[in-house]
Amino acid sequence: MTEQRQRAKADAAGKKTGNADISVFARVLEESGGITFTGYDEVTGSATVIGLIADGAGVPAAGAGTAVEVILDRTPFYAEGGGQLADNGVITASGSGPGVAARIEITDVQAPVPGLIVHRGTVTAGEIVVGAPVYAEIDVERRRAISRSHTATHLVHRAFRGALGESAAQAGSENAPGRFRFDFTAMGAVPASVLSAAEEEVNQVLINDLEVHAFHTSIDQARAMGALALFGEKYGDTVRVVEVGDYSRELCGGTHVARSGNLGLVKILGESSIGSGVRRVEALVGIDAFNFLARESVLVSQLTEQVKARREELPERIAGVISRLRDAERDLERLRSAQLLGGAAALAADAEDIYGAGYIAHRVPDGTGADGIRKVALDIRGRMPAEQPGVVAVIGVSDGRPTVVVAVNDAGRARGLRAGALVLAAAGALGGRGGGKDDVAQGGGAPLGDRADDVIDGSFGAVRALISDIMGAGTVG
Ligand SMILES: [Zn+2]
Repeated sequence: MTEQRQRAKADAAGKKTGNADISVFARVLEESGGITFTGYDEVTGSATVIGLIADGAGVPAAGAGTAVEVILDRTPFYAEGGGQLADNGVITASGSGPGVAARIEITDVQAPVPGLIVHRGTVTAGEIVVGAPVYAEIDVERRRAISRSHTATHLVHRAFRGALGESAAQAGSENAPGRFRFDFTAMGAVPASVLSAAEEEVNQVLINDLEVHAFHTSIDQARAMGALALFGEKYGDTVRVVEVGDYSRELCGGTHVARSGNLGLVKILGESSIGSGVRRVEALVGIDAFNFLARESVLVSQLTEQVKARREELPERIAGVISRLRDAERDLERLRSAQLLGGAAALAADAEDIYGAGYIAHRVPDGTGADGIRKVALDIRGRMPAEQPGVVAVIGVSDGRPTVVVAVNDAGRARGLRAGALVLAAAGALGGRGGGKDDVAQGGGAPLGDRADDVIDGSFGAVRALISDIMGAGTVG
C-alpha cells in the first residue's frame, strides 16, 4: 500500500471515531443488539436513543450547547461510507415521558464500527437523555442531491469500463450534493475524445430513464451477474446490488435515485492524475451541471462580443490575436534595443577625459533590463578609440532598483583599470554590491525612491574618482 493510501485510510479512521475510544462504540453496539438503517426507504422515522457520547465518553444526558454523538436503535441517516457523504438533519424529542424536549442538529454521521451508526451534532435546545423517544429527520434535498451523484458515479464507472476496459477499476469516489469525483486505475491520461464519448453515453442513459433497482443476493450470484466490485473492498457472503436498467450493475450499500432520468444532466469537468496509476474524474450532476453549462455559455457569448467573431470561429480568432500580439512584442523589443544603441556613437565621441582615459557615464531609460544595459555598455565600449584607455558605466532603473554595468577596453585594462573594482565602487554608491571580470562587470543597488537622480550621479562620480586615482597615480611620480 502506498504512503498516500495509508494516510488516507488513517484520516478516514480518525474521522469515523473522533475523540472516542473505539470500545465505547463497541459496547453500545453490543448492548443494542443491532441498529436498523431505514434510510433506503424512509427519510424520517421514530426511534429511541440508546446511547449518548460527549467528550469521548458515554453520558446519560446532554444539555443545550453540548457537542454530542447520538446512537439510535433505528435511523434514516446514512453514515458516510462507500464514497457517499453523510446525511445531515435533525433529531427531536417531543418532551413527554422520561426525556424533556430537545433538538439536536446533525452535521455528520459515521460508522466507527461496522453496524453502528453514530450521529454527530449539537444539542441546540432542551436536554436529550438516553432512553428518550425521538423523531429523526434527514435533510431531504441534500440526500436527493447526494443520491443523484451516487447513481451518476455508477454510470460513469460503467461507461469508463466500457471505454477503457475492465482494468479501469474504481479506486475511490466521493458523492457530494451536486458533484462527484471518481478515482480509477489507468496507466495514462484518458483522451478527451474518450471522456466526451463516456459523457454522452451516460447522458443517453439519463434520457432513457432507466429504473434503478437494489436487491440483496449472494456474493457468488452477484459475481455471476457481472456486478462491478470496488477495488480493494472486502465483501461479506450477502451483498447488496444496485442496478440501473441493464446498463450498470454494481455492489453498493449507498442510496440512489429511483430512475436515471432524475439525474437530469451529468457534466464531466475533467480528468487528472492523483498519483501513480490513479486518475480522477470530477463531474457535476443535475442543476449544478446545468448552471455550469449556462455560465460557460454566457462566457462564450462575452468572448464572441469582445473579439467580434462567431462562436465556432473563436479558437482561430483568439489564436490569431495571440500570434499578432507576440509579433508586436518582438517588434517592440527590436525597436527598443535599436533606440538604446542609436545614441551610442554620439556618446562614444563625447567621452570625458580623465588623465588620458576616456570615461562615458550613461543612464538608459527606466525599465531597461540588465541584458539591455549590458548590450549598451558593450556597444559604447566598442565605439571608443581602441588605443586610448576607455571606461563605460551604464545605469538603468527597473522597478525602482538600479542596475549598473561597467565595461573597460583592452587599453584601459593595460593601465590597471578593472571593471570588477570599478563596479564595486559604483554599486557601493547605489547601496548595493556587484562584481565581475576585468573587462565587464555588473552590480545592483537598493531601491532608489525619489532621490534616484542624486544617487545615480553619486555612483557615476564614484567610478570617476576611482579612474582618477588609478590614472593619476600613473602620471604623478
Ligand atoms: Zn455505489
